[in-house]
Amino acid sequence: MVTVTVRFWFVLFFVLTIVAPSCVANESELAVSGPSLSKSIREAEKAWKSGDFGTGLKLAMKARELAVAGHKVREEAEACRILGEIWFDRNENKSLAFYSEELRCREKIGDKLGQAYCYNASGILLKRKGLYFNALTDYYKSLRIAETISDSSDRLGRTSSAAFNIASIYDTFHFYHKSIHYYQISLDCEKRLSNREGESLTMANMSITYRKLKKFDKALSYAHKALEFAKKLGNNEETIRITNNLGYSYLKVGNIKKALELHKEALDMAQKDHVDDMLPYIYSGLGEIYFKLKKYTKALKYQLDALQLCKEDDFRVLIYRNLTDVCIALHDIPRSSEYFTRYKFLLDKYYSPESFAKTETLMNAFEQEQKDKEIQLLKKDKKIQDLLKNGFILGFFTVLMFLLWMISRYRMKQRMNRRLDNLSRHDPLTGLSNRRDVMERLRLEHARSIRNKNPLSICICDIDFFKAVNDTHGHSAGDTVLSRLALILKDSLRETDISGRWGGEEFILVFPETDLSGARETIEKLRKQIYGTPIQFEGKSIKITVTFGISQCMSEEAVETCINRADEALYKGKASGRNCVVSAG
Ligand code: GH3
Ligand code: MG
Ligand code: MG
Repeated sequence: MVTVTVRFWFVLFFVLTIVAPSCVANESELAVSGPSLSKSIREAEKAWKSGDFGTGLKLAMKARELAVAGHKVREEAEACRILGEIWFDRNENKSLAFYSEELRCREKIGDKLGQAYCYNASGILLKRKGLYFNALTDYYKSLRIAETISDSSDRLGRTSSAAFNIASIYDTFHFYHKSIHYYQISLDCEKRLSNREGESLTMANMSITYRKLKKFDKALSYAHKALEFAKKLGNNEETIRITNNLGYSYLKVGNIKKALELHKEALDMAQKDHVDDMLPYIYSGLGEIYFKLKKYTKALKYQLDALQLCKEDDFRVLIYRNLTDVCIALHDIPRSSEYFTRYKFLLDKYYSPESFAKTETLMNAFEQEQKDKEIQLLKKDKKIQDLLKNGFILGFFTVLMFLLWMISRYRMKQRMNRRLDNLSRHDPLTGLSNRRDVMERLRLEHARSIRNKNPLSICICDIDFFKAVNDTHGHSAGDTVLSRLALILKDSLRETDISGRWGGEEFILVFPETDLSGARETIEKLRKQIYGTPIQFEGKSIKITVTFGISQCMSEEAVETCINRADEALYKGKASGRNCVVSAG
């Protein structure tokens, strides 16, 4: 009882001192991880998207702090993304810093999609800062990563964005053909994604590039298509932008009336919808139209309005150029030279020959890399093809060898079977048919003779006093006598006749289509031949005689009966003094 109580207190002490505090610690950890962290990220995003910059920033910073403390890399990346987005339109450097932090996290967790987004966003920021070369580098990185994304819609989306941005930089640096190439990649992606908005945006930009290439047909057709899409989608900003660009294209083809009409339409829409970002472009376009119409004061007013509202240096370059032209036309040389100086300054700043050269080098390096990649892929393909080809050849030869082996095995087996069959049907000493073979063939001949009503004769013969041969000259001499006699029998018979060893020193002869007298005639000749041909063995001449008993098979009798009758005739011959031919009755 005492030990039980002690144990109880020990367990209670253990729970209170070790387990409980660790549970509390886990709970406090939960405060910086899991759901609460995700929640604060969500709240930060919600706040800044609803326009509350301050709260959004505060919550995002806090979320980032918690994520860093809890080593939650994914959450840290998300917090950095929000911070990058918050600063995107407010402070390019801060935004860039957060995107670089986000990128580090995305790389750590192997998030390809996130990396592609980061490079794209930092590319946009760098371009805005006029760092075109760095922007292009990041866009290329984004494109490279985009191509490796496994999810097809993510891959297409990221590829489209990167290609679009690369195209816009090439357009800026007057590499118009390259620009069209990348716009086309983007357009193909958008088509595959069925993203009409993306298609419209890309076609609108392609239209501008085609205009710069002086391919006005294409410029107008892409702009009309883009405008149609934008109107259908109810995208007012895009509708205004494309209408304005279309007007600019008509101005370039000399249709000033249409150009003016479209610019005014764009201006009305922009003013009505308060799309102020488009105003500098519309004003500058109107300025160019009035310049063409030689209404220089109006042209100057519009260009100055455009300059006042313009936020982008790359467009400011164009306005300064237009202002230079207008002031020359107005004979205001000091102002003209002032605008020209500003134009030249910006041109040198952003579009210096070094900048062009650097961009071109980068472009060529990337193109080369792409080509190398393609060559690598082709080589890989060829390797696979070679492997398949070799595999096929190897497989083909293996199958062929196997078939040949099977055929040779089959033939060998057949040969073996034939040899076995041959052995089982022939007498090894004389090479004549054995009793079994003779009987089979005899039955066939008997059946044929009955069918064809032809005669069939049988002869059984036996060497006379053979025992004496063995006894006098030895067993080998006896064997030699047997095999030589077999040869004589075989040679003296027709092809169709059958000869066989019946047993011991007895032989059987079958004469198809031969009657008794015919057989007798042949055998008589044979008997005489044997008698007159002594057999040579080891220098000795062994003279033998043979006694023959013959019978003609009768159609109704069995072969065995016929054989018996021949046998009986043979015995009669033995009894009557041997070396003779006796016919069965
Ligand atoms: P008969 O004229 O009455 O036929 O007298 P025979 O001596 O020929 O007859 P027997 O039946 O008394 O003897 C046959 C002998 O044939 C006995 C046997 O040893 C011998 N013989 C049987 N087969 C072979 C054989 O394959 N080789 C040899 N060398 N002798 C054999
Ligand atoms: Mg005998
Ligand atoms: Mg015998």
